[in-house]
Amino acid sequence: MTDEIARLVRASRDRTVAATDQQVVALTTAWVEAWDALAPEFDAALAALLADTDGTIPASRVAKDRRITQALARARATLDDLAARTQVTVTADLAAAVLDAVDAHLASLQAQLPPEAPGVVLGTLDPDALDAIVARTTGRIEAASMALPAEVAALMRAELVRGITVGDNPNVVARQIMTRTEGAFNGGLVRATRIARTEMLDAHRAADQRAAQANRSLISARVWVATLDSRTCGSCLAQHGSEWPVDTFGPEDHVQGRCVFIDRTRTWAELGFTGIEDDDQDLTAERDEWWDNLTPGSQDAVLGKTRADLLRDGQITWADLSTRVENPDWRASHVLTPIRDLPGQG
Ligand SMILES: [Zn+2]
Repeated sequence: MTDEIARLVRASRDRTVAATDQQVVALTTAWVEAWDALAPEFDAALAALLADTDGTIPASRVAKDRRITQALARARATLDDLAARTQVTVTADLAAAVLDAVDAHLASLQAQLPPEAPGVVLGTLDPDALDAIVARTTGRIEAASMALPAEVAALMRAELVRGITVGDNPNVVARQIMTRTEGAFNGGLVRATRIARTEMLDAHRAADQRAAQANRSLISARVWVATLDSRTCGSCLAQHGSEWPVDTFGPEDHVQGRCVFIDRTRTWAELGFTGIEDDDQDLTAERDEWWDNLTPGSQDAVLGKTRADLLRDGQITWADLSTRVENPDWRASHVLTPIRDLPGQG
């Protein structure tokens, strides 16, 4: 295993992230334009409603207001369009991400085999297997997108339909309501963005996992590789160099995580090539060396002072710092262990 292979695998993941970033830009533009089109209607509806009184408007009256109801109906239709657009945008790049993952995977295995290795044939994936990954992901994107309009519209309605105390400055009141309503509307963008980020990377990882399974006879372990820099969290640093079975999906880092699995091939002797020396990198030692070269201040910045102290004092190990958590609306992920859950801290 070499830095060269880590670069190759990361480059593939980075291409998928770059495609996702472009999707996020496209979705953000669509959402901003949509709100710009909706806002005047809400503005007018609120102005008319608030002009009627300087007292209190009960929620029941807001709920029955014809203009407010119409504006909400139009927002719902707009959200339906945006959800459809989210689906098309994210789905469009899936096949490319899947192919890229498989290509990178095979290249990473090829790069570890001795150049003089005759007779080692890498297992490739047939088009049906790739299509199945794309189809499964497309189904999840569809389900998540379809749920979005109703939920966002309900949140917008909740912001609008409540008792209003108008007082002597209706414009200020109207602006506050508009800001909250826009916030609820943009919650839909946050969800769409999350769909893109989660599903694109997960399709990439699923393809990578299938490529590993197709080559299980060659692979001794999937190795978790983090990026050793100050932006990397303690959980990912803790996982650096950890070994996982061939069938593992992952690495299950967190949202915006930058870790990759690199599949380590069996030793050349195990593969039947004798007389060739293996030059395995010790990733854990690499991480420890990187850590030891940081100043205590930089170490504190990475882990927080309490955790850094415990690690420096030998009261905890790196493994204690990473905890797997289930997420109800996302896949499981490994995150930095809360201090109270560390050994000796309960
Ligand atoms: Zn991390």
